Amino acid sequence: MTENSYDIPSYLHRDLLGIEGLTPPEISYLLDRSESFIEHNRQADKKLDILHGRTVINLFFENSTRTSTSFELAALRLGADVINMAVAQSSVRKGETLIDTAMTLNAMHPDILVVRHSESGAVKLLAEKVKCAVISGGDGSHEHPTQALLDALTIRRRRGDLSALTVAICGDVLHSRVARSNIHLLNTMGARVRLIAPRTLLPSKIEAMGVEVFHDMVEGLKDCDIVMMLRLQKERMAANFFPSAREYFHFFGLTYEKLAMTKPDALIMHPGPMNRGVEIDTEVADDYGRSVIREQVEMGVAVRMACLETLGLRNKDEAQERAP
Ligand code: ASP
Repeated sequence: MTENSYDIPSYLHRDLLGIEGLTPPEISYLLDRSESFIEHNRQADKKLDILHGRTVINLFFENSTRTSTSFELAALRLGADVINMAVAQSSVRKGETLIDTAMTLNAMHPDILVVRHSESGAVKLLAEKVKCAVISGGDGSHEHPTQALLDALTIRRRRGDLSALTVAICGDVLHSRVARSNIHLLNTMGARVRLIAPRTLLPSKIEAMGVEVFHDMVEGLKDCDIVMMLRLQKERMAANFFPSAREYFHFFGLTYEKLAMTKPDALIMHPGPMNRGVEIDTEVADDYGRSVIREQVEMGVAVRMACLETLGLRNKDEAQERAP
C-alpha cells in the first residue's frame, strides 16, 4: 500500500481540531482509511512513503505518553520526517507567546503540526497563526479528536454499525476532552450516549449535547453495549469534587458487580492512563475477554496515520501557495 485509494477524499478541512462539526461521511472516511493501516502495522516492514519529504512537528505543551508516541510512530511509518519539540526546554518556558511560537514554526516550513495544550482553544489559536495543517492532540477539557476516532474504530471493528449501539461514558466528564469528543462523534454517527457521573463531575446543561444523564452506575449501565471509563483528572481539579478515592470507587468504579447490568458481551474501554482501583477495578481492566483497552492503543496508531495522511496529502498542493 503506497497511495491513497480514494480519488476524492471526503475530508475537506485543512486541520483536525475537534470532532464537532464533522459530518458522518468525513468520520467514516477517516475510519476507513485507518482500517487500511491496521494489518500493515502488524507486518515486520512498516515503512511507507506516503508522506515522504514532509515534515511533522510534535508540539506537546502538556505531558503525554501514548498520544505523542503514537503520533510519532504514525508519522515515521508514513515516511515523514518527525521532530518532537521538547516544550519543557523551549522558549515557551521562557515566556514566549503562542503567537511568537507560531511565527518561529512558520519560518521552519513544517507540513503538519501536532499540538497538545492544557488550555481549551489554544490549539485553534495556534492553527489560525500557522501556515501548515494542525492536528489537535488534545486541548484542555475541550476536545481530543483522535482519541474519539480510535475509540470509534475499536468499537466499529468489534460491533459494526455505531448507530445500533448504546454507549455509557462514566466518570469525570467535567474535565474530560475524551468525553466531549466521543459525545460529538457518537451522536453524529447515531449511537445513543449515556453519561454516568456524580453531579459534581458533570458540566451543567450537558443534556443539551443530546445525552441521557445518570448518577447511578447500576441504573445507567443497564443493557449498554459499550462502557467507556474516564480517568479522574486530579490535575485539573481546583477543589474537592468527591469525598475520597475509596468512596468514588464504591459508587463509580467499574467492578464485575456493576458490569453485570450491561449486555453480557459489553466492551470495556478506557483512554488511559488508568487509575486502577479508583475508576476501574484492576481485574476488570485486565479481563481481555471484555476489555479492549490494549486494542484502543493499537487503533490509535492507525487512526493517526489516517489523519496525517489525509491532511498531508490534502495540503500538499496548497503548501506552496501558503508559503510566504
Ligand atoms: N489520555 C487522555 C487525555 O489526554 C485521557 C486522560 O488523560 O485521562 O485526555
